Amino acid sequence: MSGKNDLDKLRNTLSFHVPEKGSWKAVTPADYPKFMAAAKEQAAKGAREGGQPIGAVVVHLPTGQILGRGHNQRLQRGSRVLHAETDALENATMTGEAGGPPVPDNLMAECGMFTTMSPCPMCAGACAQFGLKLVVMAENETCSHGEFVLAHFGIEAVNLKDGEMLNTVNAWIKGPGASTWDNPELAVPLRRWIADEPGNPKGWVPS
Ligand SMILES: [Zn+2]
Repeated sequence: MSGKNDLDKLRNTLSFHVPEKGSWKAVTPADYPKFMAAAKEQAAKGAREGGQPIGAVVVHLPTGQILGRGHNQRLQRGSRVLHAETDALENATMTGEAGGPPVPDNLMAECGMFTTMSPCPMCAGACAQFGLKLVVMAENETCSHGEFVLAHFGIEAVNLKDGEMLNTVNAWIKGPGASTWDNPELAVPLRRWIADEPGNPKGWVPS
């Protein structure tokens, strides 16, 4: 947990746009659907742009404030690195708005990632790199090969098994995303490593 001064600083900064300061409270599992709804809004935003329907939010767990929002931009921008989770990390600020002051490392390490899809190894690694303690995913049927990274670094992974989100992604894979879904970014050595990993959650086999 951060020191009291850090938390006070966060509260004072956020109070510029959060009127009900007194209502802030630590995130509990009962709050997970609310934050997943915010991640799903980001997924819908990506789909409206013609991109993959994958969204994420970074939430400061002690206060329940969303500090960053993001969506996958592989198709829109031809980006290899702006997945939903990395975009949310990139956009995270103390005010939760673009251009706000950057989030100090100690506060970032108190955050959780809420993502509409189980994170890929790159995004799971980014969560580990910045010390996040929790990753909540809507589903892991369409992707699960980053979960061994979460397990390796002791990051709690929670799968909400959200059928609505799963249906949305599957419809996109069979429809607009049919020609672009297959992920060429996962290099062969990483595919082999994942396949050999004892924690490989679903016996994922490299293609
Ligand atoms: Zn990713």
